[in-house]
Amino acid sequence: MSDLKTILSSGKEASPQRFHPWIFSGAITKTRRHSDNKEVEPEDGDVVTVYSNKDEYLGTGHYQNNSSIAIRIITFEEEKIDQNFWNKRIQNAYDYRKLINVITPETNIYRLVHAEGDRLPGLIIDVYGNTAVIQAHSIGMYLALENIKVALKNAMGDALQVIFHKSKETLPKDYAQKVENGYLLKEAEPTKTALEYGNSFNISWEDGQKTGFFVDQRENRNLLAKYSKGKNVLNTFCYSGGFSVYALKAGANLVHSVDSSAKAMDLVNTNVALNPCEGKHESFTADTFDFLEKNDCSIYDVVILDPPAFAKHHNVKHNAVQGYKRLNMTTLKQMKSGSILFTFSCSQAIDMPLFYGTILSAAILAGKKVRVMHQLSQPADHPINLFHQESSYLKGLVLEVE
Ligand code: SAH
Repeated sequence: MSDLKTILSSGKEASPQRFHPWIFSGAITKTRRHSDNKEVEPEDGDVVTVYSNKDEYLGTGHYQNNSSIAIRIITFEEEKIDQNFWNKRIQNAYDYRKLINVITPETNIYRLVHAEGDRLPGLIIDVYGNTAVIQAHSIGMYLALENIKVALKNAMGDALQVIFHKSKETLPKDYAQKVENGYLLKEAEPTKTALEYGNSFNISWEDGQKTGFFVDQRENRNLLAKYSKGKNVLNTFCYSGGFSVYALKAGANLVHSVDSSAKAMDLVNTNVALNPCEGKHESFTADTFDFLEKNDCSIYDVVILDPPAFAKHHNVKHNAVQGYKRLNMTTLKQMKSGSILFTFSCSQAIDMPLFYGTILSAAILAGKKVRVMHQLSQPADHPINLFHQESSYLKGLVLEVE
């Protein structure tokens, strides 16, 4: 057990007792050492045990100063956080991916650890063939990297030959100054071209966004394929062109990919070239709002809107809703009868009812009648922790414009 014992103020035990893994700084009264009962200030990343003010054990987690989430609980059992703990958790995550059958001859791109969804708050691990890319979002997870590496190798054996660590972007800025991204393991050349439902993608973890690829849209991209044959498709916020490749492979007549990042355009062009198809593809480095305003979008049969999270925090929720409304209204206004809109939000702070209401307002403002064909979410390798609503972040609607 950790020697640090953090005590919550009265009433604040209710949330961890319902297995919510976040303890906010305002809930904490003090931290003492178990050994001599002396009051201490925990260091960033320390493992602390959490107790109610009636001295009931609540959980064990990673402490982080200057963060509104002061403790991220990694276990609600009284257990040691040793190599055995990490082995158990990572093995459990790998077994779960086998249970959901995400790893197949056609797919070797998947999320192995989805933070709170895998009872490992602050940790993301995506796998691309023989390579795992780790992002630590908390200092505690960063300090546990060596244990995580050993546990990964233990669980996956020869299936894992490369581990890349990429937390400089995800750790608190001050702390990240001393952190360097790099390879923790390189037993072979990394898989550069990985597969998703038989589609090939070049993954750029070293200098791409996030872990290199937006793994969470797999099932939604696969759904798009159903509606793409012979169609003109506009894929906005395309990043490395996941939706574009699926549309082209499914026989789209024309695909236009739009992203404001020039680097993304290189990635999308590479990925389209990796998957030879008859349909025409063009990419545009442009702001989506500008593109929508300057071009005649009534030529498209299918449009995808997959913007970055407009609301990273609850206090900017209102602005985010306005952003989604404007984006969807501008698009819907131009869409012709019988066309289909795939529209998404990946903001944690915007739940499905709010997203639905926002799209409803956008349709009213655009003067369009629409039907909901599908309500979309995140795939099973991005599991939602039932006790932590925040882990349900991806929402999507597929609409038919009447
Ligand atoms: N749909 C993508 C993931 C989108 S991530 C996929 O399936 O892989 C969001 C993307 O939006 C990023 O690539 C970012 O560069 C781009 N972006 C952000 N703001 C933008 C804007 N105003 N116009 C166009 N692209 C933008």
